[in-house]
Amino acid sequence: MELREIYSNIYQIDLGAVNCYLINEPHGLTLIDAGYARDKPDIIKAIRRLGKQPANIQQVILTHLHPDHAGGAAGLQQEFEGPVYAHAADATLIAEGICGRLSVQVTPGFINWCLHKAIVLLGPRSITPVGQIRLINDSEVLPILAGLEVIHTPGHSAGHVSLLAEHEQLLFAGDVLVNFGGLKPAPVYEDPAAGKASVKKLAARSFDLACFGHGKPITNANQRFSQIYSS
Ligand SMILES: [Zn+2]
Ligand SMILES: [Zn+2]
Repeated sequence: MELREIYSNIYQIDLGAVNCYLINEPHGLTLIDAGYARDKPDIIKAIRRLGKQPANIQQVILTHLHPDHAGGAAGLQQEFEGPVYAHAADATLIAEGICGRLSVQVTPGFINWCLHKAIVLLGPRSITPVGQIRLINDSEVLPILAGLEVIHTPGHSAGHVSLLAEHEQLLFAGDVLVNFGGLKPAPVYEDPAAGKASVKKLAARSFDLACFGHGKPITNANQRFSQIYSS
């Protein structure tokens, strides 16, 4: 596990296979995504390294239902009192412990085929069901930072959301795109056309730094989002 401050009081917790993000505010912590179930000790270690306790978590926001993002939510829920947020389209499955739809399309390329096999076909088929999910909707602004806006960005999954901290010019992009070996489409999409439309929807917004479920954050991100499907 590596903990990096990517913006004042905003941290990337690099769990190896996936990142989650921690926003440290005086009134409590917000965790964006929860890693795999196995990542709970590392997430707690990261929280303690900031001098905080897991009980200081105020809320967990899940970008989508996949096991590398939602798998750790049920375990962490035992440690704090507060909501786990997710979009309705994925929340119904997360509540049942279902962590993916089988009808995904693999993005062209050998590496994507390998990742699909490793992550989707050989990865966890279920997660511990998450109770008491609070639903979030497109355009909803959560009272986190100066306002954290939920942007529904379906495609990778039907209930995928991105989170925009406009004042900080910071976007939490989940798996809308990935940034390993360069910025590119995620290995799988339930609906590739919707995934492209979601990137365009984000590109129309204002942000500089974008953080991903996979790979390092990038700057000048808004412009790079607008270019990704232009060639
Ligand atoms: Zn995913
Ligand atoms: Zn992922």
